[in-house]
Amino acid sequence: MKTSLDLIGNTPLVLLKGPSEEAGCEIWGKCEFMNPGASVKDRAALYIVREAEASGELQPGGTVVEGTAGNTGIGIALVANALGYRTIIVMPDNQSKEKMDTLRALGAELVTVPPTKYADANHFQHVSRRLAEETEGAIWAGQFDNTANRKAHIEGTAPEIWEQMDGKVDGFTCAVGTGGTLAGVGMGLKERDEKVTIALTDPHGAALYNYYAHGELKAEGSSVAEGIGQGRITGNLEGAPIDAQFRISDEVGLEWVARLLREEGLCLGLSSGINVAGAIALGKDLKARGLENPRVATILCDTGFRYLSSLYNADWLAEKGLPVFDWLSGARPAN
Ligand code: PMP
Repeated sequence: MKTSLDLIGNTPLVLLKGPSEEAGCEIWGKCEFMNPGASVKDRAALYIVREAEASGELQPGGTVVEGTAGNTGIGIALVANALGYRTIIVMPDNQSKEKMDTLRALGAELVTVPPTKYADANHFQHVSRRLAEETEGAIWAGQFDNTANRKAHIEGTAPEIWEQMDGKVDGFTCAVGTGGTLAGVGMGLKERDEKVTIALTDPHGAALYNYYAHGELKAEGSSVAEGIGQGRITGNLEGAPIDAQFRISDEVGLEWVARLLREEGLCLGLSSGINVAGAIALGKDLKARGLENPRVATILCDTGFRYLSSLYNADWLAEKGLPVFDWLSGARPAN
């Protein structure tokens, strides 16, 4: 018998036509937008809550508090509803309106704070930790350093990809928010074949590309992508087996968001477009290193329906100085 929580994970893996043609090798996308909360973060949410129950920290009727760009909050709200817990979410106020509306609709208590740097005591992660400490019967999910997050991918996402690709995986890459997905899938795949190349795909404005390339945490540029872009080595990233790194601009990521929608009928967020561009770069790199027909997997992180007022809105794109999808530009009012 299945319960609602069994709907998390076991997502399909699809061969991406345009990206495979572009790379000249197979590029596969793990359909994480098909989780009940429509993102990859349902997996971490479930593992974090289950681990807190198992340790006795989370008691019946308790509260789960988390700081999140939104998707983890949505996952936690669904899991907490299914298990009888309350949810309090702290989110930076520059994230998508759709994610905030969704959190409220799911019954989470939503606290928004201005975006600020991690060193600032008012950063959303610190605010959420203090709120958890002050709330009776509450736990702090702490997805950035809580390794129950990456365990979800070591035990779930990685073996699923391995089986779905019949044990023939040459490369895996994705961007990092907490690092749970990259580190967990990386570790899980390396357990099965240590020759699998694990690569970071970083957006601009994040510090990890320089860290893995040159040993220095240094950010350059900026990105409008939500949920990705990290400035420190989180607990989940510690010991992650990273062999290579790529940096992808929003413009290139958006081009793939547009092509995946128009050519393959996949409506996705920008982190998915950036991941696919990174997977193409990894495929080309493996070929240049002499591998014949490499097979590369990446993550299609969340649904584009979460960004109708931003990524899929002509005025928003133009305001950010980003190219407007050609099928949207006709819908723009003159001035
Ligand atoms: N894409 C989106 C849309 C996300 O919300 C997140 C999670 N913050 C990620 C990618 C990155 O996942 P992870 O936290 O496992 O690094």
